[in-house]
Amino acid sequence: MSHDLERFVASHVQGLPRSGIRDFFAVVSEMPQAISLGIGEPDFVTPWRVREAAIFALEKGSTSYTDNRGVLRLRKEISKYVADFFGPEYDPASEILVTVGVSEAIDVALRAVLNPGDKVLYHEPCYVSYAPSVALAYGEAIPVGTTPENDFALDPAAFEAAWEPGCKVLLLNFPTNPTGGTADREKLERLARFAADKDLLVITDEIYGELTYEGEHVGIASLPGMKERTLLLHGFSKAFAMTGFRIGYACGPAPLVEAMMKVHQYCMMCAPILSQEAAAEALVNGAEDVARMKEQYHRRRDFIVRRFNQLGLSCHSPRGSFYAFPSIASSGMNEVDFSHRLLREAEVAVVPGTAFGSHGANHVRASFSTSYERLVEATERMGRFLDSVRDESQEAAAV
Ligand code: PLP
Repeated sequence: MSHDLERFVASHVQGLPRSGIRDFFAVVSEMPQAISLGIGEPDFVTPWRVREAAIFALEKGSTSYTDNRGVLRLRKEISKYVADFFGPEYDPASEILVTVGVSEAIDVALRAVLNPGDKVLYHEPCYVSYAPSVALAYGEAIPVGTTPENDFALDPAAFEAAWEPGCKVLLLNFPTNPTGGTADREKLERLARFAADKDLLVITDEIYGELTYEGEHVGIASLPGMKERTLLLHGFSKAFAMTGFRIGYACGPAPLVEAMMKVHQYCMMCAPILSQEAAAEALVNGAEDVARMKEQYHRRRDFIVRRFNQLGLSCHSPRGSFYAFPSIASSGMNEVDFSHRLLREAEVAVVPGTAFGSHGANHVRASFSTSYERLVEATERMGRFLDSVRDESQEAAAV
């Protein structure tokens, strides 16, 4: 019967995979002793001053729709913040759209610019929504691999080699989920020249921009000539620990933001007003909170990367994000078996690298958005697990 009902489901939706991460973590939530290094969200609760702003907004009766583009005060604060952090200035009236998280911004951006069959180049391993979002907008996804040899940094030469007629969009995210890979100024300059030569629109997902531990974070929109061909997407979920507020934004040239606004106004109307008021507070007064959380992530990163390497799980030091992406090749298992056995036998949850595309093979994603003490315990459990795996293979070899 349920099979019959699939005739009602659109074929391009039938073809979409379910996010493997959610299924896996439904299992984890049933295991009270498990330590999860799986979910990509801050372990910090939203800073008090931001929660207080939301409470106050509710108390004063902010319960209405807002302008489709978002509350003007928030757009003005976004404009200031983006100019300070990234460089380019955007007009709050015509060049900024407040969205329901970066998730909606990605969806709306792709739906606003893609004609059926238009091709989107992006790097992989990458955030799980990219390929499905392209498919939902009737586009064609062209993943371009990044490699452990390069610390998973964006590789302009690989993008150039992957280009083919019909490519319209270059979708970037750095620091990258799941690898923590990034792109320095030189690489970005070459990517910018590539985008200009091939007349590509760049969609850049800057959600981990603040969580950069080494060097500067350069937004591609700040490079000469790039503001005109870039949609800069950003949000509050990660650096401000505001995942549940579901709030983000897009900045870009007025005609493109107008096109996005049309899609957004019919599917979403506007972002929730309470979240918009809280977000404005985060931008005005949240810098110290961001710095406090970032310091913790930095300390945890240094610890977990060192421990993984000591355990024989070769791991580059991610320059940003809150994810480590070690190779598990030395275990003799593939990433899916490794993750399942690690969960069953050591009660530590990590995500198989292939959940982020085939280029994530032989790796797992371990999020360090969990307390230092739990990271110590998790890596001890992993050490014991790896010892038992090695003992097993020695016994097997001796037989
Ligand atoms: N982009 C990337 C790279 C992410 O990792 C995530 C969440 O994990 C998102 C976008 C979605 O963010 P939001 O909560 O703003 O929708």
